[in-house]
Amino acid sequence: MLRLPRFQLHTPATVRDAALLLQEHRAAEQDAAKTGTPGITVMLVAGGTDLFPNMKRRQFTPTTLIALGTALPRNITFGTAVTIGAGATLTLVANDPRIAEGYRALAEAAVSISTPQLRNMGTIGGNLCLDTRCNWYDQSLFWRLAEGMCMKTDPSVVCRVAPSSPRCLAVASADTVPALLALGASVRIVNADGERVVALADLYREDGISPMVMGRDDIVTEILLPRADGWRSTYLKLRDRGSFDFPIVGLAAAVRLEGGIVRDARVAMTAVGSRPMLVGAAATALVGSKLEDDAIAAAADAAHKIARPMDNTSGTIAQRKKTVPVFATRALQSLRVN
Ligand SMILES: Cc1cc2nc3c(=O)[nH]c(=O)nc-3n(C[C@H](O)[C@H](O)[C@H](O)COP(=O)(O)OP(=O)(O)OC[C@H]3O[C@@H](n4cnc5c(N)ncnc54)[C@H](O)[C@@H]3O)c2cc1C
Repeated sequence: MLRLPRFQLHTPATVRDAALLLQEHRAAEQDAAKTGTPGITVMLVAGGTDLFPNMKRRQFTPTTLIALGTALPRNITFGTAVTIGAGATLTLVANDPRIAEGYRALAEAAVSISTPQLRNMGTIGGNLCLDTRCNWYDQSLFWRLAEGMCMKTDPSVVCRVAPSSPRCLAVASADTVPALLALGASVRIVNADGERVVALADLYREDGISPMVMGRDDIVTEILLPRADGWRSTYLKLRDRGSFDFPIVGLAAAVRLEGGIVRDARVAMTAVGSRPMLVGAAATALVGSKLEDDAIAAAADAAHKIARPMDNTSGTIAQRKKTVPVFATRALQSLRVN
């Protein structure tokens, strides 16, 4: 049995308290790094459905955890825009009929995540901040030590997926992210110095070790969605087991139609690179069309061109690459108004 390492738990009552605690512990972490003992010693935990398994496998061994369960907003509110508290569970997001109606891709993505028990605990904020995954990384410490580790745990070791790669190729795997990208989401981020709103598309980078642009003293507190007027969206997911599994391809498509003409479009993918990606050229191909076959084919081709699956998760590279245009085609065809 894999056991959790020992850690100290803080349960701040407010986001402000959590941000101050995080700042205090991060400062201690930085002081320790200066004296030659670098390493992550403080982390945030929301539902714990990803972090605790990772800690059991010693991928992270923080000595301090700051639990966000009480501090974070957990409601979904509908006004001129939609605000989803980062502490909202995946079950709440998946089951909200207003999300299912106006933001279908998000409901479909949320309900596809892990299992009912994990969706009852797992939060949407935790999903946005999900660590990248890899066959060489998501293993027990015993397994990884026997193999000699990999770049994600020890930067002095080569990337086991592509030994000549200058960077870690671990794969982005969070299901709600492409859905939220396709829906034009942004996030509110709070730290001890204040708060800011960042477009979700600007939150990620192509780096398996450090996949988020966010600072380590930042807390995601809310997800903001624009009005759904005229938008239709959907999410498709390829995974090994239909019952529960991480995506090995995830693709979301959203279009805004006026009189049957596409006025706006977004196609976004995950699990085909270290960052979730928006397919800019797909939007160009679709805007002005009536979702005719040739426009959809051009969008699917654009998605296919930029998908870069590696041999780091289930399925084969060829299977995952070929799935991308098939999913793009199916998703966009399903958004036609008959
Ligand atoms: C068996 C199994 C199957 C799974 N299947 C899927 C799947 O199919 N698809 C999928 O997307 N995920 C899957 N997951 C992963 C996980 O359950 C979800 O991603 C979940 O949404 C994580 O949310 P959480 O609140 O539990 O995050 P936690 O585990 O608490 O945290 C995850 C990470 O996010 C950080 N974090 C959490 N909240 C915040 C915040 N508000 N601000 C800043 N940082 C924060 C934490 O520090 C940590 O690094 C699976 C997990 C398991 C164990």
